[in-house]
Amino acid sequence: MDDAGFIREMAIKNNEFFGESLPMTASENVMSPLAKEMLITDFGGRYAEGKPGYRYYQGCRYIDEVEKRCEDMGKKLFDCDYINVQTISGTIANLAVFSAFAKPGDAITTLDTSKGAHISHQRFGAAGIRELTVHHYPYDMETLNVDIDGTKKLVEEVKPKIALFGQSLFLFPIPLKELKDTIAEVGAKIVYDGAQVMGLIAGGEFQDPLKDGADLLTGSTHKTFPGPQGGIILGNIEDEKEKKKVENAVFPGLVSNHHLHRLAALGITLAEELAFGRDYARQIVKNAKAFAQSLHELGFGVLGEGLGFTGSHQVAVDVKKYGGGNLVAERLERCGIIVNKNLLPYDDPKKPKNPSGIRIGVQELARTGMKESEMRRVAELLKEAVMDEKDEDAVKKEVIELRRDFRRVRYCFNEEDAYSYKKLV
Ligand SMILES: *Cc1c(COP(=O)(O)O)cnc(C)c1O
Repeated sequence: MDDAGFIREMAIKNNEFFGESLPMTASENVMSPLAKEMLITDFGGRYAEGKPGYRYYQGCRYIDEVEKRCEDMGKKLFDCDYINVQTISGTIANLAVFSAFAKPGDAITTLDTSKGAHISHQRFGAAGIRELTVHHYPYDMETLNVDIDGTKKLVEEVKPKIALFGQSLFLFPIPLKELKDTIAEVGAKIVYDGAQVMGLIAGGEFQDPLKDGADLLTGSTHKTFPGPQGGIILGNIEDEKEKKKVENAVFPGLVSNHHLHRLAALGITLAEELAFGRDYARQIVKNAKAFAQSLHELGFGVLGEGLGFTGSHQVAVDVKKYGGGNLVAERLERCGIIVNKNLLPYDDPKKPKNPSGIRIGVQELARTGMKESEMRRVAELLKEAVMDEKDEDAVKKEVIELRRDFRRVRYCFNEEDAYSYKKLV
C-alpha cells in the first residue's frame, strides 16, 4: 500500500498545486466534470479494434454508438466530411498522415523549431521516424509568419509530398490562400497541424484551414480544444482510395486500442463545444490580446508589436534581459505562474536549453471564467515576479488570492447534470 499511497498522495498534491497556481502553458487545459467522469467508466478497460459496425472484438455495441456520435458531432463542429477520432495523440495523427501520403525518402516542408514548428515535423521527431526529408520554409521576421515568396520558391524547388503548416508557437493564421495554388501545382497535400488552435478553429475565432485550402487538418484534442488528451484528423477527402490510406495508417498502422474512455470523454467535449465553443473561443482571443497589451504597457518585450501581438491564445515574450526563458520560467513557477520557456524566431534552434523567450497561453484561465480585467492583473503579477523581483512567496500569495474565485470550469454542462456517479464506474 505504501507505494500506491505515495502515488495517490502525489496526485492529490498535484491537484492542490495546480488549483493554487495560474496554469498558463499554451498546450494544456482542464476537462469539464462530465468529460472527466467518462475516464473512470468501464470503457477504459475495453477493446474495439476496427470501425463502428466492423469490429474485431465482441461487446462493442455501446462504444460503436459513442464513436459514431463523436464522428457526427466532429464533422458538424468543424464543417467537414471526413473525420478520424482514433489517434491517441496529435503526434500520432501527424505520423498517420505522413505515412498515408509520403514514403521514406520523400520530402516534406515545414518551419524549424525556433520558428515554432513542432518536434513531430522534424527529422529528429515523427517525420524522421517515417524517414522523410525535411525542408524548412524561410521565415518573415516582420510578419512573424512563413515568408510567402520564399515558401513558394522552396515548394517549387523540392516538390514535397506534404506541405505542412501550423506551429506550437502559433500567433497568427497561415497565408494559405496565397500559397495553395503553388502547392497544388507540385501535387503536394496541404496538411495543417492545428494542435494548438483546434478550439479556436472550432469556435470560428482563427482561420478555417479547410476553407483556406488545407486538404487535411490534424490536431490534439486537449489544448484550446478542452477535451481528453488525444488526436484528431479532419478533412474533405473525395477520393475513396486516399481516405482508405489515412484510415489504414491509423488502424492497423498506428493504433490497436484507441483508448475508449478517452473517446467517450471526447464525445462529451464535442457536445460541449457545439453548445459553448464559440463563446469560449471568443473570450480566449479577447483575453490573449488584453494580456499582451498589458504586458507591453508594463514594459515587457512582447513579440508582434504592430501586428496586434496575437491572433491566437498565445503570447510570446522576450525575457533575455531578465536571464532568459529558463530562469524566468523557473522563477515564475515558484511564484505560482506556470509557463514554458520557448525558442523565439531569432534563436538558434540547436540551443533549446535557455532560449530567449517564454510562451504564455490564456486558454485555461479563460475556461475558469477569467476575463480581460483579470488578465491585466495577471500581467501585473508577472511584472512583480520578473521585473520587480518581488519576494516569491509574496507573489504566490497574490496568485492564490486571485485564483480563489476562478476554480470552476465554465463553458460546459453543469456538474449537477451528471448521471449518478455510481452507475458510471
Ligand atoms: C502539441 C502539438 C502537437 C502534438 O500533440 P500531442 O497530442 O502532444 O502528441 C503537434 N503539433 C503541434 C503544432 C503541437 O503544438
